[in-house]
Amino acid sequence: MLQPGQGHEGATAIMATLPSAHPMQLPPSTRGEQLAEALPHERQITQGNGTLKLPQVHPGWHNPDDISSYQISSVDRARYHLRNRTNDVVTFHMIDKHEADVSDHEPQFVDYDVLIAISPAYARSARANPKDTSVYIPSNISSRTINVFIQIISPVCANTLPTHYLWKSVKPASGVYDRFGAVKAEKIEWALDVLLELILLAREMEVWWICDMVVDRLHWMYQEQTKFQDICAAMTVSANGYVQIEGKQVYIGSRLPPIPALHFNLSTDDFESQAVAQMLTGRADMPTALFLADIARALKGRMNPDPLDVPRNGFCARYHHHKSSSPCYAALP
Ligand SMILES: [Zn+2]
Repeated sequence: MLQPGQGHEGATAIMATLPSAHPMQLPPSTRGEQLAEALPHERQITQGNGTLKLPQVHPGWHNPDDISSYQISSVDRARYHLRNRTNDVVTFHMIDKHEADVSDHEPQFVDYDVLIAISPAYARSARANPKDTSVYIPSNISSRTINVFIQIISPVCANTLPTHYLWKSVKPASGVYDRFGAVKAEKIEWALDVLLELILLAREMEVWWICDMVVDRLHWMYQEQTKFQDICAAMTVSANGYVQIEGKQVYIGSRLPPIPALHFNLSTDDFESQAVAQMLTGRADMPTALFLADIARALKGRMNPDPLDVPRNGFCARYHHHKSSSPCYAALP
């Protein structure tokens, strides 16, 4: 059985002890070791006589506006049914009473062999007690986060965060015929607390590449927020609603779009919370702790040099768990 991590000290004190930017010795990844080389980090197209390099989309990128509130793709629907096709299940049990009541309506499980292959923590537990096919989830983790975790690891490993919580439904989705049974989809709002909870679960299960996946989403959120803040800071709105853009007077109305109106709003306070303190203590997970410490510092004021503003290889080396000789989860199909 898995139990919650121990020891929660102040995040600020821990951050102060973490090193600044330099290469780190990272623990080995358990995924993708068989692949000799990562995929290229840039794709190229030829244009005229020269070659134009296009930057790869950030692995954490997503656009919530493109995601339906309740409709999912046929591929996601097929994956849902495939992950449920097993007679050899490991069931997740919630320690929190409210979450346990919710889960009673629909037990959440994953294939035994899948979980053994993905989670070193569960593999150890199963070796010690092969008849125990239960994982006990600490009260600081919700059944929704279990739902996400199962989607990421089954039926095959994903390389992006899912878009919806998926539940069994007795009522068919509007306009969808599904001969294997109806699926209720609920759009995931990937707010900071939801992401941090997924890191907590990934750490409990020791599935380190899921921590990398969450770090990428947080990094993308930070970059987007910084970009918009820079745009707003560079503009001074005059009384008549005109701003100077590259030497021209451009009318944009009386106000710039407020940053909180974006899909996310990261703040220093968020990263000095109890939840983050929990990330920085307990189980050894230096890359994630270092990222959380760096992003908290960056939100207080720009760093020079900024360790968050590095090429992908450098970002992986500093904040991800895989070796430089092993591919990033994001480069796997
Ligand atoms: Zn990586």
